[in-house]
Amino acid sequence: MSNLDVEWALEWMRRASAALTEHRAELNDLDRAIGDGDHGENMARGFTAVVERIGATPPDDVTGVFKVVAQALMSKVGGAAGPLYGTAFMRAAKATEGDLDAAGVVAVCAAALEGVVARGKATTGEKTMVDAWSPATEAAQAAADAGRSPAEVLRAAADSAEAGAAATVPLEATKGRASYLGERSIGHQDPGATSTAYLLATAADAAES
Ligand code: ADP
Ligand code: MG
Ligand code: MG
Repeated sequence: MSNLDVEWALEWMRRASAALTEHRAELNDLDRAIGDGDHGENMARGFTAVVERIGATPPDDVTGVFKVVAQALMSKVGGAAGPLYGTAFMRAAKATEGDLDAAGVVAVCAAALEGVVARGKATTGEKTMVDAWSPATEAAQAAADAGRSPAEVLRAAADSAEAGAAATVPLEATKGRASYLGERSIGHQDPGATSTAYLLATAADAAES
């Protein structure tokens, strides 16, 4: 049941950077189908900057890591995803005090979701990253209510984010660049929901390591 500390947060960011770099071409391809083809590039660049910054000046708590992530993503990612993920991590930082227990993990997911919604004004079913963050937060809450460990709560969130991303395929985009395609956005998986699933999977991986 061990709580998640700053070492976990640092390991999460290293794994996130590696995963988003590994999946850069796939995320670009998803974005090429319904957007402008840069989502993998944006995420890989952003998280490379995150890892550089935490390497140069290692924060001493989870909140500090999330703040650096927010600032790096805001300044390096651009487009839609930079401000959305930047706001998510800024809210997550504000929702965090010390190490994370199971309830703390739920609070981080809920804060990230609130940040994305505050910034992008999307609701579920609009084929955006909200369709990954929202089921992830619900699953995290259910796992915490069932007495699961922080790592198990994160794994539940990650699995639901992945299912949520897959479930964006039949949706028509009504927010962001993909909405310009209207019905032609149907049949493609949303890149931002997909990157959210990778991000949460690496959070769970880091917690299990
Ligand atoms: P851009 O569209 O500016 O090129 P990215 O390609 O990096 O930015 O990110 C696109 C992703 O951002 C989409 O796949 C979607 O998940 C997410 N997105 C776009 N607009 C919104 C919004 N209003 N609310 C939530 N997520 C959004
Ligand atoms: Mg794009
Ligand atoms: Mg773009």
